[in-house]
Amino acid sequence: MMPIKAILFDFDGTLAELNVDFIRMRKAVLDLMSNYCSVPDNIKDCYVLEMIDAGKELVFKNNPGRENDFFKKAHELICHIETAGSKKGRLLAGTREVLQLLREKRVKTGIVTRNCMAAIKQLFPDIDLHCDAVITREFTTQVKPHPIHLLTALDALDTDAHSAAMVGDHPMDITAGREAGTYTIGVLTGYSGFAALRDAGADMIIEKAADIPQVL
Ligand SMILES: [Mg+2]
Repeated sequence: MMPIKAILFDFDGTLAELNVDFIRMRKAVLDLMSNYCSVPDNIKDCYVLEMIDAGKELVFKNNPGRENDFFKKAHELICHIETAGSKKGRLLAGTREVLQLLREKRVKTGIVTRNCMAAIKQLFPDIDLHCDAVITREFTTQVKPHPIHLLTALDALDTDAHSAAMVGDHPMDITAGREAGTYTIGVLTGYSGFAALRDAGADMIIEKAADIPQVL
């Protein structure tokens, strides 16, 4: 592996136990949407943030003037569910230690998550002391799998993509890393198994993020 100057970490399923109730969030958004317009089947398979964006467009077409109301309420709903989830959640063993060790090795660290800041801070209140940049969805123009999310974090860390690695549990972490131009590392502590991360094109797959110092 080339010298790595910065590591970007996904949060849920990578540094913290996966505690986001995606099924409940999708259902809550679909239920809300049905108050504004009829809900087409093809929207039901979207990830929740994309579902809200698509819903806003639909409400605009079918019920113009109500789209911002829908959008705001949908975000309040999912933020509520995420924050409730993080109340029950906890960091994976070794998270603080690995971040500390990377700092001692002068490797910068960043968090790249689609989750909201309130949920992250609730679970990891001292995150700013351990990471050099925390880019939740509020702080990027487009979220993963769009590479802009990672490039925003790399910009904050003043590091080029080819000197950085993206670490995550979901195929979209790998996809986003590849498109941004980072080295990509899949971990098996969350959403995906080995095959899904390999098929997404991960350069390396390890059991857990806490093992990073051993492979750098
Ligand atoms: Mg994740």
